[in-house]
Amino acid sequence: MFDYLIVGAGFSGSVLAERLASQKNKKILIVDKRNHIGGNAYDYYNEHGILIHKYGPHWFHTNDRKVFEYLSAFTAWRYHYHRVQSYVDGMLVPFPINRDTLNMLYGLDLSSPAAVQAYYDEVKANINNPADAEEMVISQVGEALYNKFFKGYTLKQWEIHPRDLAASVTARIPVRTNRDDRYFTDTYQGMPKHGYTAMFQRMLSHPNISVMQQTDYRELLQTVPYRKMIYTGPIDSFFDYKFGKLPYRSLRFEHETFDQEFHQPCQQVNYPNEYDFTRIVEWKHATGQKSHLTTITREYALDAGDDLERYYPIPRAINHDLFNKYKAEAAQLDNVLFCGRLADYKYYNMDQVVARALMIAEKELKDQ
Ligand code: FAD
Ligand code: UDP
Repeated sequence: MFDYLIVGAGFSGSVLAERLASQKNKKILIVDKRNHIGGNAYDYYNEHGILIHKYGPHWFHTNDRKVFEYLSAFTAWRYHYHRVQSYVDGMLVPFPINRDTLNMLYGLDLSSPAAVQAYYDEVKANINNPADAEEMVISQVGEALYNKFFKGYTLKQWEIHPRDLAASVTARIPVRTNRDDRYFTDTYQGMPKHGYTAMFQRMLSHPNISVMQQTDYRELLQTVPYRKMIYTGPIDSFFDYKFGKLPYRSLRFEHETFDQEFHQPCQQVNYPNEYDFTRIVEWKHATGQKSHLTTITREYALDAGDDLERYYPIPRAINHDLFNKYKAEAAQLDNVLFCGRLADYKYYNMDQVVARALMIAEKELKDQ
């Protein structure tokens, strides 16, 4: 008899498994239908020996000290600031937009945060409560910069006009008046020193945790006895899509390896306007791996449809309404807890998922 059957060995499932096993001696079976642990954060060495992320680039960053300290029990870190450039008007410029971006793009000589703010004040639209992803940007930097950096990228990424997406989508990107060219300004950022998968292996190495891969949890329901389920898969699939399918975006990756140390100046270059892909990632910049070879990955966004991996919940009101129907069903089940990016249908970052799993674990431990 297992105390918990946990569905999904990503961040949500693995954190809960580790906490419940190590803090309350609970017996856990964690099951994943994929042939590996780590969920979407899974990384591996490709055929050229370069460490890459199977499901797209995962840059860790958080201001949550508790999350950082918790994960630090399972990994050392390679401290590293994530840097991104955007290819706009034929040049590579810092992104998020900062003082250097404006000076390079327009041949200006803005020399202080106040001068940059005055520039934004002149070009931005006067909107108090941005209602969508387009308004969120133009209320900060105006239409010209929106057209250069955001409109094309967002259309490629979501195939939905920014006007029809939640403001929170583009609110993820800050606007700077200084020269800070880090993608995130969080206190803690970097990469697990030996990769995400190694970190997950340590989290799940507790003797009370059994791991099953390449198994859909449904295959076990008749045969494996358990007291409670924690479900981190897609919520609509749990309920057999009875209210309809929650839409997701998927991705197609195109990898290429070069016999040179580096191929581009930083770990990520965004292409808002040219080409069909949204961005190119060069892994070694972030992992710090030494090799005379380098692998880059081009990322193409597409609809998840029926058979592709479901990567991005699509933040818009109509989808939120559909999710709420499933959420109401879920609330009626006593012995199933729903948690994670797919079960909550939320565009969570890794640290948010870890924080939520830690919170649920604490509650479970208290209730026992
Ligand atoms: P997942 O990692 O999706 O794990 C759920 C697991 O459940 C999966 O392994 C799945 O196989 C399994 N499962 C589903 N159904 C079943 C079933 N029926 N039976 C058995 N198993 C099942 N966050 C950041 O902080 N920084 C980033 O840079 C970043 N980049 C990202 C880039 C991309 C392309 C994507 C898609 C996400 C990114 N994220 C990033 C977000 C991050 O991936 C998630 O927050 C985190 O991985 C979610 O963890 P989870 O455990 O909730 O879900
Ligand atoms: N975005 C954009 N241009 C960029 C980068 C991001 O328009 O160069 C918008 C786009 O809508 C994207 C959102 O901002 O989906 C969030 O970007 P982020 O880099 O956080 O996306 P993720 O890494 O989660 O794919």
